[in-house]
Amino acid sequence: MSIAKKIYINRHFNAIIVLGCGSMGRRRKRKLKKKVKKFLIMFLITTIIIIISTATYKNISKKSPSKEKTIVIKKNTSFKDKIKKECKKISYCNNKYIDRYYKYYKNNKKLSINDIITRVNLGLDYDFYTHTRKAKDLNKDYILVNKYSYLEEDYIPNNLEIIPEEYARSGMRLVKNAKDAFVAMAREARKDKRPIIAMSSYRSYKYQVNLFEKYKEADGIKDADTYSARAGFSEHQTGLCVDIYDGVLDYTNFEQSDSFDWMQKNAYKYGFILRFPEGKENITGYQYESWHYRYVGKDIAKYIHNNDITFEEYYIQKIDKNN
Ligand SMILES: [Zn+2]
Repeated sequence: MSIAKKIYINRHFNAIIVLGCGSMGRRRKRKLKKKVKKFLIMFLITTIIIIISTATYKNISKKSPSKEKTIVIKKNTSFKDKIKKECKKISYCNNKYIDRYYKYYKNNKKLSINDIITRVNLGLDYDFYTHTRKAKDLNKDYILVNKYSYLEEDYIPNNLEIIPEEYARSGMRLVKNAKDAFVAMAREARKDKRPIIAMSSYRSYKYQVNLFEKYKEADGIKDADTYSARAGFSEHQTGLCVDIYDGVLDYTNFEQSDSFDWMQKNAYKYGFILRFPEGKENITGYQYESWHYRYVGKDIAKYIHNNDITFEEYYIQKIDKNN
């Protein structure tokens, strides 16, 4: 320690002692008081600076990117772990899609794990008409054709038969199973005074090309995509679906007819489902169509009716489990 410093400390030490004695000269006393005051102020300022610095450092540490990154990774890992765990219990979960499930979950956090898996397996994490594939299950009642699953230009279903004209516009055709079921349904509906008439059924690839082009010209491709299918992606090419009306109202107003109520209660008993229900547009890819019915067979129709799901969901969860 330097001599100067020693003297300084001694002076202060003496000053503090002397301050309490009361036997000093007034001038010296005042001088000492000043020094003590100065010392205390310096001490206070230093303490405040130390406190502020410590608090700021703690704050910065909390917000540091490295810590934030750790939290994200933790969340990420835990959800992926959850999916992996659930995957073993869910028969239609596919381990190779774990990253896609996670990505879809991040944008759809309110969905259940089952819904996330179903939608990703359907391809809904990709835009419509991207990542398409050839339809499987050709000539089966449970074939899936939608905006990700297409039929080739030369696909014509087996066993197309004409629907009798008492229940259809002239020349309407359906695959035999669907036609028989439709006739039985239309007969029963007529008995109940709730007529249903087919106004569009099987449509060839070429027919759909022209139809879609017409809609595209009228409304633009964006709107046309919401109510009409591009060629190859139309379910009408399967010969398993039918657009109906009650013989009076325009088919687009079918929902307002008594025949629609009859269909709501009875269609599934004949193996038909309302294919594009209200509120399921983001799964089916189409706006609600009260007039478009699809034949899937009695068992599947009953399951879909009882569980209030779309054919897409049924297909992923029950048929194409391995995707
Ligand atoms: Zn239709």
